[in-house]
Amino acid sequence: MSVRLRFAPSPTGWLHIGGLRTALFNYLYAKKMGGEFILRIEDTDRTRYVEGAIENLLDALKWSGIENDEGPKIIDGELKEVGDYGPYIQSNRLPLYKKYVDELIEKGAAYYCFCDKERLDSIRAQREAKGLIPRYDGFCRSIPLEEAKKRVEAGEPYVVRLKLNKHEDVKFHDLVRGDITINTDDMDDQVLLKSDGFPTYHMAVVVDDHLMGVTHIVRGEEWLPSTPKHVLLYKALGWETPTYVHLPTVLNKSRKKLSKREGDVAVGDFRKAGYLPDALINFLALIGWSPDTTEEIMNMDTMIKEFSFERVSKTGGIFDLDKLNWMNAHYIRNKENSELLDLAIPFMEEEIGLAKEEILANREYYEIMMEAVKEDCDTLRVLANKCKMFTEDEITYDEDTKEWLESEDLPKLKDGIKELLQDREMDLEYAGEFMKLLKEKTGVKGKALFMPVRSLLTGKAKGPDFVHVLYLLGKDKIEKRIEA
Ligand code: GLU
Repeated sequence: MSVRLRFAPSPTGWLHIGGLRTALFNYLYAKKMGGEFILRIEDTDRTRYVEGAIENLLDALKWSGIENDEGPKIIDGELKEVGDYGPYIQSNRLPLYKKYVDELIEKGAAYYCFCDKERLDSIRAQREAKGLIPRYDGFCRSIPLEEAKKRVEAGEPYVVRLKLNKHEDVKFHDLVRGDITINTDDMDDQVLLKSDGFPTYHMAVVVDDHLMGVTHIVRGEEWLPSTPKHVLLYKALGWETPTYVHLPTVLNKSRKKLSKREGDVAVGDFRKAGYLPDALINFLALIGWSPDTTEEIMNMDTMIKEFSFERVSKTGGIFDLDKLNWMNAHYIRNKENSELLDLAIPFMEEEIGLAKEEILANREYYEIMMEAVKEDCDTLRVLANKCKMFTEDEITYDEDTKEWLESEDLPKLKDGIKELLQDREMDLEYAGEFMKLLKEKTGVKGKALFMPVRSLLTGKAKGPDFVHVLYLLGKDKIEKRIEA
């Protein structure tokens, strides 16, 4: 049987980096097994709904290179649903849930509860005063079904709750955590249908995973306490339980849950900061999973090939920004210049104020600029800023260029450059010979030649090679910088 996996986010804000990791692991396994990857939107909690969150989510997934086979997609600028198991947005599936809630009630696996807020608050307060976890006391369990139905018909507000058996061991297997047993005495009569007629997450997730033929449920470990409730629902409805995998939480360096307070956590923030999607995905794959090789740099195809749940760890994975920067620098350095330029354009527009049209009209020139600056850039933003050494009319001089700018050879070198500039246009070929010619002309060589010229032209003591510096600056800028 072919596998079917799903990523089921709630549209309550921007896609979190931990959410993207969950989507990725679902995707990798689905693709490895030749199965389907489904996107389902869990929007039954209307109070937490955020306008635009679905579009943002789709955009973030698309950018990351994780494409869903089924579920909502943006096609020709419009939100559409693809696949035979729809609708994939839960708020469009309400009648379905109601049907199964009714079935559970008829089977005696669920019951109507009419307790009002005041009563629930007071039970909670009583339990809290005793230092106990808030839990419903089962007051409405004993209402005969016929009586309850009459009250519902009469218009009395109600919820529907799961009717737990007492002292029952609920067992399930998790591919990462092994066998897990929880006793119903440690569980609550979970609300399944809310007073607004919407199902709770627990009810909707079980119905949808079953109806959508989901074979593996791969999600963050924060959902582990919910799983026994789901297992009981599958049992009550006479359905086969899927395979469970709970992923370790993404932690910060002090081993706490990654939170907004410590910086960026939304996928969009990383995109804006200038991380490449392939670098971010490669980095995230290694949080909580390790391949059976020592090679850490992997493209999506390799990750799909190597992926397995056996190598997912039980303990939290650390989000190490230094490692992400290292990896991003690696991906930037290894990108083809043409592709790198396309990725860098938005950042060059923002950082340097260059227009996209201007860059595209001089593509070849800017591709060579990419070649010149792509070493040692943690982000595309850093890369764009490095381009300023070629694009700005005025440059600032780093502290460590001072000694070279005071060199006694400098006047001689300046004159030599000026003379050589008169001879020919500064094309790549001339740029390639230029320093040799300057050496012959001035008799200055080695460090005494390179360091003052580099400092003078770029404001830096280290940087791109001279062929690129000379070519990219061109005659005019070189002359201006000599005069400055
Ligand atoms: N809607 C849940 C979330 O927001 C999905 C949990 C699950 O995968 O079952 O993460």
